[in-house]
Amino acid sequence: MSGVAQIVISLATRAIDAPFAYVVPNDMQVEIGDAVIVELGAQTVLGFVVGWEKEGAYVDAKSGKVIDLKPILAHIPGPFFTSYSYELAVWIARYYAAPLSESLKLFLPIGLAVRLKKALSNYSATGEVKMPVRRPRKTHDATDNTQLNDLHHKPEKLTEGQREALTAVIQDSAPRNTSSKPIVLEGVTGSGKTEVYLQAIEAVRQIGKTAIMLVPEISLTPQTVGRIRSRFGDDVAVLHSGLSDGERYTQWEKARTGDCGVVIGARSALFAPLSNLGLVIVDEEHDSSYKQNNSPRYHAREVAEKLCELTGALLVLGSATPSMEALHAAEIGAYRMVKLPERVNKHPLPQVTLVDLRREFTEGNRSMFSRKLLDALSQVRERNEKAILLMNRRGFANFLLCRECSYVPGCESCSTSLTYHQTQHHLRCHQCNCIKPVPDQCPECQSPYLRQFGGGVQRVASDFRDYFEDWPLVRMDADTTAEKGAHGRLLEEFAQHPSAVLLGTQMVAKGHDFPDVTLVGVINADVTLNLPDFRAAERGYQLLEQVAGRAGRAELPGEVIVQTYSPENPACRAVAAHDSEILLENERIMRKSFGYPPYGSLCNIVISSSTEEKVERFSARLQDVLRKSDDLRSVGATLLGPAPCILSKKSRQYRHHILLKASADTELGPMIQDVLKELSKPADVKLSVDVNPTDTF
Ligand code: ADP
Ligand code: ZN
Ligand code: ZN
Repeated sequence: MSGVAQIVISLATRAIDAPFAYVVPNDMQVEIGDAVIVELGAQTVLGFVVGWEKEGAYVDAKSGKVIDLKPILAHIPGPFFTSYSYELAVWIARYYAAPLSESLKLFLPIGLAVRLKKALSNYSATGEVKMPVRRPRKTHDATDNTQLNDLHHKPEKLTEGQREALTAVIQDSAPRNTSSKPIVLEGVTGSGKTEVYLQAIEAVRQIGKTAIMLVPEISLTPQTVGRIRSRFGDDVAVLHSGLSDGERYTQWEKARTGDCGVVIGARSALFAPLSNLGLVIVDEEHDSSYKQNNSPRYHAREVAEKLCELTGALLVLGSATPSMEALHAAEIGAYRMVKLPERVNKHPLPQVTLVDLRREFTEGNRSMFSRKLLDALSQVRERNEKAILLMNRRGFANFLLCRECSYVPGCESCSTSLTYHQTQHHLRCHQCNCIKPVPDQCPECQSPYLRQFGGGVQRVASDFRDYFEDWPLVRMDADTTAEKGAHGRLLEEFAQHPSAVLLGTQMVAKGHDFPDVTLVGVINADVTLNLPDFRAAERGYQLLEQVAGRAGRAELPGEVIVQTYSPENPACRAVAAHDSEILLENERIMRKSFGYPPYGSLCNIVISSSTEEKVERFSARLQDVLRKSDDLRSVGATLLGPAPCILSKKSRQYRHHILLKASADTELGPMIQDVLKELSKPADVKLSVDVNPTDTF
């Protein structure tokens, strides 16, 4: 095709958010998706062909003058992204208020950029471009860390429930069915969801379509990868953060060239260049690792929905504890709900006991282990079995808690807990910025034991040794898993011991399947439940239910002990009864009345800089222009802050934030992007826009 091409330039600035027009020379064959080299100002830059301009003279819209367009200098035949990629990239950029060039980068692996840049330098030197991209050679596959002697996984004979779920998926992904709704597969831990996914993928492959399956990063252990590889062999590409750029590129090329039809990976696997997509599965869709915490701050569930809309593929969202977003969409009929309420082996879910730490305290036990938990641990040791202990703690969010009645000081206008600041000795709301004095005694019960909460994994490990001197303890937290591959090694170590305890942060709650774990202990449920964020209760519940599901997965029955200062908390009661309704009933009321998702939309804008004064000055200016925006005003958006973030200083940067709230159907991203386009920002002030934030720290 010759004529005038629309080309997006690969430069990361907010200013370049639309394609430029360049003339295709007569002797050049350029297609959509090709990489090109063009002049931009004085620079020679890399770009990608994303569309065509109308033939004829190119007239500047503002001046009305005919413009002499520059020619494309050279091109590298692609396509480097599929037909829907550009449309999806544009949507991501608008929806999440991010530069288009950044959202395009999601679709182009680093390995590719390196190769294309090499081509660019060749061009400068010799005036011609060598095709840098080769088909991957079939040599040793670095992502294949399965053992040669692996057990071979055959498809299981499905239970009745699984068969019904699979039928629903197969019907909805049939070739002529283009209007199917996303399916929420709500199945208790061990109900065989993964088996349903695998057979659904097989069915989709049989009709010649391709599939993407997302799993939380942390679940991409050699165990999981092995299970999938043994089912799909060479037909699968695996993408996760543990790969080198080269390995990642090889996997990406495999998908692009059609050498495989299944891509498994963490959230970035959504951008694999598969053609003829038929099915997208998001496993553990509630998991917070699906949100990217740098620009574009997208959520894989939201992008997957858009991707399926563009390609006609079916979306399946699986979880034992679906997000309130997914549940709400099912309630209003936008999604379809399919349930697997029983474990495959028909075993009951483990019995959950709540231990009231207030009573332990008043009865004189000051340790982190209740008598009940110590007793249960001793029994596990005697029986030579295994236990998992969860100590979830985010080091920055300190709150006060009454050790006698579990009262936690909170902000009345935001419904989040107040954060305790030791240096100023005051309480502060990190959303609306109000400050309260620290009460001398509990306002509810007048107890003097209103205490600051903390104590991490390390502290639990040392207390543990007071009771169990030489019982193997595997510690898993940010410190012990910093090294590449450490996560998998620690799990392997835990598996090797005949009897041991796995202690850690939320990492111990995810995905793994140890048949000999018979006890799960939660050291302190309150730490998660009292995070100063509106999702705290939902997250806390999901985590507790998730970790509870690690107990008694095989023949041996399991027991769960949850220690808490507030056993009456709906999240705790919901876990004890394995009934999410107990929590959701409360959450719906709270979220509705405060306009939080899924009943409202949010955007969190963080302003940061190395001097606090600059942050304050720019925040005030931003607040002013946001207030004046006609778009925001017309949808009745409200503005909270500016206030210091809970993480008020991070990597020597002061951080303040502004929170915008609007009705659920409002797309705040595009409005904010338009406001920011008009606003000049000092270079030493950083701005991050988070549409639909998963937290507001
Ligand atoms: P979930 O993903 O819901 O936690 P899995 O798919 O991992 O559940 O299944 C739990 C266990 O049950 C796994 O060990 C799996 O191999 C086994 N399993 C799944 N489906 C069946 C079946 N139909 N018959 C026998 N075993 C099954
Ligand atoms: Zn009290
Ligand atoms: Zn507040």
